Amino acid sequence: MRATITRYKMLNYNDTIAIAVSGGKDSISLLHVLAGMERKFPRASLFTITVDEGIKGYRDEALNIAVKTCQDLGIKNHVVSFKALYGFTLDEMVLRMRERKSALTPCAFCGVLRRKALNVGALAVGANKIATAHTLDDEVQTLLLNIFHGDVSRLASEKPVTDQVHPLLVQKVKPFCEIPEKESALYAYVKGLDFQSTPCPYASEAMRNDIRLLLNQMEERHAGTKFTVFKSIEKLRPVLGSIAEKSEFKECKQCGSPAVGDLCMACQLLNQIL
Ligand SMILES: [Zn+2]
Repeated sequence: MRATITRYKMLNYNDTIAIAVSGGKDSISLLHVLAGMERKFPRASLFTITVDEGIKGYRDEALNIAVKTCQDLGIKNHVVSFKALYGFTLDEMVLRMRERKSALTPCAFCGVLRRKALNVGALAVGANKIATAHTLDDEVQTLLLNIFHGDVSRLASEKPVTDQVHPLLVQKVKPFCEIPEKESALYAYVKGLDFQSTPCPYASEAMRNDIRLLLNQMEERHAGTKFTVFKSIEKLRPVLGSIAEKSEFKECKQCGSPAVGDLCMACQLLNQIL
């Protein structure tokens, strides 16, 4: 992982890093690894951000694990809840989406709102980097998902270190992007770390699941497939960058966040359920 951090120039010795910790095995492993590294860099500081979407019977357990792990490691944990930020828990939003027969899945809805909540949390603790625990598996699934959806601009923008496009959008880094999910899980098991293993009750990304199965099958028959796909896209990065649409940012008319149109993505979604 150190090689990945160096290769992509992910972190500097004096960064204030907000780690996105959900309480699952990948984010708990990342937290332990970065906490160990941070001790060697006295000018760096580490926080964790946990987004509480408000999913009854699911998020509470993960939240407790995240809080307890941070206490053990002496790291400050900052919780951002959907209820406080948006006025509704995800459970309440899903009820409203179903009443209005929304075509969106809870995952699509939650993904946008979680991204914004993470950024709000990172700004609150004064972080200049957000570290997420996306593994090689997550990254390759997303790359293929973007190709299957024909979303070339997302294919260009989702990368191991995101571009700094606006001062109020904290840069994201993915130190586990070259680490297979199996290895991240192995780390958590070997170290005896406590993490949440139950899946989210709303998990419904049908195409991602198909891609996960396809990639696992390919990897079993042709070892190294995932890494090869990842590296192929990395080699195409310079070309992808040149065709990516450069967005002009304005202020969201509703919440003041950076937005490409009149409203940010989060406000556009929230307006659908009001
Ligand atoms: Zn907004």
